[in-house]
Amino acid sequence: MSCPFCDIIRREAYAQILFETPLSIAFLDVKPINFGHTLVVSKKHFTGLLELPQDSYEDVTRTLRVVAEAIVDAFQPAGFNIFNNNGAAAGQSVFHFHFHVAPRYNEDGLKIRPYFKIYDSPEQMAEYAKRIRDKIDLKEKSGEQ
Ligand SMILES: [Zn+2]
Repeated sequence: MSCPFCDIIRREAYAQILFETPLSIAFLDVKPINFGHTLVVSKKHFTGLLELPQDSYEDVTRTLRVVAEAIVDAFQPAGFNIFNNNGAAAGQSVFHFHFHVAPRYNEDGLKIRPYFKIYDSPEQMAEYAKRIRDKIDLKEKSGEQ
């Protein structure tokens, strides 16, 4: 199956590569939110965050910070976003794990206006917390990562 990020990693597709380690690579997004918008990608092909092994995760997050600091130093943006989309419903369009690092400016035209839900009651909120907490407890007890 063809993957545009694997093509870049193999140097078979054009990209402006900024930085790389044995496990991660950073290159400019060809459809930037703002100029300098960068993708930080695991070098091995994994679909999403939950497939990423711990060593790749740690390396990718180190590279993420290197890139974020360089973007801030280079462009002095008013802020920056780091985001990661997992699954088509979440906006993932290339199914090879990546973080986005996007410089942000006041009045840059990007509006994220979610329709916030409101929990019906403290009990409903507690139920959602319990369902997540129970899964964390299960994984922690079994020693999974
Ligand atoms: Zn890939």
